Amino acid sequence: MTGSSPVWHPFTQHALEPEMRRAVRTEGATIWDSDGNAILDGISSWWVITHQHRHPKIIQAIQETSAAMDQVIFAEFTHEPAEKLAQALVRIAPEGLTRVFFSDSGSTCVEVALKMALGHFHNRGIRRSRIAVLEDGYHGDTIGTMSAGERGVFNAPYDPLLFAVDRLPFPGPTREAEQETLDAFEALCKGGEMAALILEPLVLGAGGMRFYRAEVLAELGRIAHAHGVLLIADEVMTGWGRTGTRFACEQAGVAPDILCTSKGLTGGSVPLAATLATEEIFASHLSTDRRKTFFHSSSFTANPIACAAGLANLEIWDSEPVMERIRLLGERHATRLTRFANDPRFRDVRQMGTIAAFNVVFPSTGYLAEVGPKLRAKFRAQKLLVRPMGDVLYLMTPYCVTEAELDRFYDGIDQAVTEVLQEMGR
Ligand SMILES: *Cc1c(COP(=O)(O)O)cnc(C)c1O
Repeated sequence: MTGSSPVWHPFTQHALEPEMRRAVRTEGATIWDSDGNAILDGISSWWVITHQHRHPKIIQAIQETSAAMDQVIFAEFTHEPAEKLAQALVRIAPEGLTRVFFSDSGSTCVEVALKMALGHFHNRGIRRSRIAVLEDGYHGDTIGTMSAGERGVFNAPYDPLLFAVDRLPFPGPTREAEQETLDAFEALCKGGEMAALILEPLVLGAGGMRFYRAEVLAELGRIAHAHGVLLIADEVMTGWGRTGTRFACEQAGVAPDILCTSKGLTGGSVPLAATLATEEIFASHLSTDRRKTFFHSSSFTANPIACAAGLANLEIWDSEPVMERIRLLGERHATRLTRFANDPRFRDVRQMGTIAAFNVVFPSTGYLAEVGPKLRAKFRAQKLLVRPMGDVLYLMTPYCVTEAELDRFYDGIDQAVTEVLQEMGR
């Protein structure tokens, strides 16, 4: 079972997992393995693939750019793919974000955001260094981003290294709970040490696809700005149409001071990330005093091939009816979700944009630990890539998914849940 491969896979307990399927080709919403199986990708390969696997325009941009350039040091040099992509990002981003810092993953662009926020105050001689976060938030798996995220079994061993943050209760589902979150945040802001609030706008992804209202996001932004606290929008998952708008912030009309984007930035084709910041934050680092430099770099900052892929993604947004596809996909989910809405096996059936989610009701939560692997084995047999998070089942497919493919997901989930509940003697 542990096999002879030297590869150590992410989020994988090698002592318990069946052998890895060997991917050989991708297209549309499908991953082919070396046994010739066509597996439907229900989670966009961990939330990165937006339009489809291997969009021809993105692949073409990668090929053309790599014919001319590979990595070029991004201090002392700039290049057209990065310049054009930065301009395009500023053009479409929420109001006020005028500067673009490139990196290479979701975690890194969040680390960059946190450093920018603290640097902003430090360079202005203002003593503000606390970070506020939402309960159940997720911002990545590096030490800094784990610090900002929910604590639990995933990061228990590293707890001694994680820095302290101020946690706000999840804003919902009731109006009372929303108000509690807002009140807690306002109280924290009045302390005067708060540097920034970092949050996933509208949807806490890894925290279980938990949704909260745009009005609450708008209000959190208003409170932050009233107290000189920076708002960091981690749009690593929510960006590029997932929630029904290009960025989730748009639905709240909120203007973050810093915005993090990765995953769908290149349509999910190659790694790239960007942290967008306001002119004010850039200005805090602009000085003839070298100590005020933004001291951050990763080796592959603004890789030209990745930037070209990002630019191709933006061109697809301009030239193809992407918003219309997203709207249609949302409608198709909504229609199919009604099937589960009054089904006692499910609760909290919910949908936002291209994300559909629901919780499976098990006789006792004690079963939870075993149910995930059981469900995954069923999905594997059905040639569906669906990964439950605890009792939460969700679909977040590439936007190209067809009606027939969606039916396969919903029928497959229906059947898998029935079988697992039966096997568990319900
Ligand atoms: C996935 C994710 C990250 C981390 O991105 P990586 O590329 O995996 O480092 C950060 N924030 C959010 C909201 C995410 O969903």
